[in-house]
Amino acid sequence: MFPNGAEFALSLTFDIEMTPNFPYWTSRWNHRKGQIDEGTKLYLRRMGEIAKSYGVRLQFFLVGSALEDPDIDYLKQLVDDGHAIDNHTYTHVNVKAKDIPGLQEVYANAPWRAEGLTPLEVIRQEIRQTNAAIAEKLGVEAQGFRTPGGFTGGLDDVPDVQDLLRDEGFRFASANYYYPVDHTERHQPREALEAAFHASLNALQPYRYHNGLLEIPLMGITSIWAFRHMDLDRWEFIDLIKAGVDHAHANKQIFSLCCHPSDIAARDPHCDMVDSVLRHALDKPGGCWATTNREIADCLNN
Ligand SMILES: [Zn+2]
Repeated sequence: MFPNGAEFALSLTFDIEMTPNFPYWTSRWNHRKGQIDEGTKLYLRRMGEIAKSYGVRLQFFLVGSALEDPDIDYLKQLVDDGHAIDNHTYTHVNVKAKDIPGLQEVYANAPWRAEGLTPLEVIRQEIRQTNAAIAEKLGVEAQGFRTPGGFTGGLDDVPDVQDLLRDEGFRFASANYYYPVDHTERHQPREALEAAFHASLNALQPYRYHNGLLEIPLMGITSIWAFRHMDLDRWEFIDLIKAGVDHAHANKQIFSLCCHPSDIAARDPHCDMVDSVLRHALDKPGGCWATTNREIADCLNN
């Protein structure tokens, strides 16, 4: 089913943006999502080095405003090493917003930025600006799109956004998130966390919207839910992902995980997650196709 005869696929994906509550619980970033701090940049370099040592490419999604920073050497290094960098909007807008303030804190603070456009027109503009910035500053073409925030049901309720993404030429979207536990309760039993992880993998295998757009969901738990909402420690998080790898291997599934370098840098300082999850997956009998969402899209679109 998968290239090289592998029995299952793993794509580690990372959204490059700053995340509120990290590195400090009091950290606020929503009005400046693209101001990637020094520690996160260094952490991204470390992640890239670890993946390279295994011969694996990682999947990134970037907020376009990060490219206003004069120091983007950390991103150029990722591109040089063959990692995929795709589109995560310019300021991290909610693609389901029905009014301008609902798009993002920067539009609530400064609604004149929208210049009279509708929310959907602002979303299209942000997506185009991000594609242009990635092309101009990094010399590569964005091919995929991840929505800021994940949604149960993905883009089912916004067919106009599905069409926008298809018309802008994206080869896949990544919007659907489903992790069925009570998110208001911290420190849940490991069995409940694993059961939710398995349910997510089973429910969220890649599929197509009615208009033909490919969806590659955010499977299992995201790092922000694990650390902010469930308050897992790093080895609880890593062991949970490994259990997800075991499930994907046993069921010959695609497993695409979503994390943020800005929050795992704070909670997993030595980058054990990337190292031990890749080692665990690559050791599986029958073989793991460790890849990017882009290459999964290539495989499924052919
Ligand atoms: Zn995001």
